Amino acid sequence: MTDQLVGFIGVGRMGGPMASRLLDAGYRLCVYDVSEEATRPFVARGAQLAASPAEVASTAEVVLVSLPTPDIVRTVALGGNGGIINGSKVRVMIDLSTTGPGVAGEVAAQLAQRGIGWVDAPVSGGITGAKAGTLSVMVSCPQQTFTEIEPVLKNFGKTFFAGEKPGLAQVAKLANNLLAATAMVATSEVMAMGVKAGLNARVLIDIINASSGRNSATQDKFPRTILPGTFDFGFATGLSYKDVRLAVDEAETLGVPMVVGGAVREMLAVTKARFGADSDFTHIAKLLEEWAGVEIRA
Ligand code: NAD
Repeated sequence: MTDQLVGFIGVGRMGGPMASRLLDAGYRLCVYDVSEEATRPFVARGAQLAASPAEVASTAEVVLVSLPTPDIVRTVALGGNGGIINGSKVRVMIDLSTTGPGVAGEVAAQLAQRGIGWVDAPVSGGITGAKAGTLSVMVSCPQQTFTEIEPVLKNFGKTFFAGEKPGLAQVAKLANNLLAATAMVATSEVMAMGVKAGLNARVLIDIINASSGRNSATQDKFPRTILPGTFDFGFATGLSYKDVRLAVDEAETLGVPMVVGGAVREMLAVTKARFGADSDFTHIAKLLEEWAGVEIRA
């Protein structure tokens, strides 16, 4: 057990359960979120509530953030007088969000000028993994900083040190998420085909899961949220679109052609246009259902 005080900014679908695990482990928390509803359970459990990111950074030496987009991470880190960079106590900022390597490099350089360290620590494993502490946590930062902050990150799951260069772990995360989104799109297409041909959706999923086509969509997302028709995996279409866009942009920057990645990005753009950025990203399957005129249920 520890009674170290840490800052946590952005206690939403992922940040909430991660921050909760820190309280369970004995850490004291100073939290900030633009949503009062998101911070309420933490205040009820004794966490300090800050009025700005700067206030969190004037309270804690280590500040973690789990925020939706690169722009929001940049603003929370550097923005106006209220950013983490203006905090008097902070020594290191840990970004648990999926923000791409671009913002990591830019923010790390500005924080370094004030003697504040930067850690990329994007995570994978969804809300279920965040609650259970079974996420994969991909980390890039100076080796010595990694040694210092790994005990905090271990509360979230298994850590992987990706290297010292800012943004490196973000590239690993983008690679993973592009694959996961590709699995969702391709699985939605074959499931719509199978059901329209007369196959039972459960039988087809069982066949694929015992065969060479199995993937994270057939093993988890379809059985859990699409076959029962709940479409509530807990990851927003807008965020998945952001991830895939960042991945394809990064590939383009590096001169790596991504034909399939481009198609997956467009499928997410259509899903977002049809169902909205806040819809659950399993609505990719709903799009295929509409186009094929079938329901993938069991
Ligand atoms: P979310 O929208 O549920 O949570 C984000 C939180 O940030 C919300 O509580 C929101 O109120 C808060 N917020 C927004 N703007 C803010 C600001 N300016 N200052 C302070 N707080 C602000 O999103 P999420 O699903 O928890 O995702 C967070 C990050 O984790 C994203 O980068 C996402 O890509 C990544 N991620 C999500 C999942 C998932 O399955 N949901 C999995 C892995 C990684």
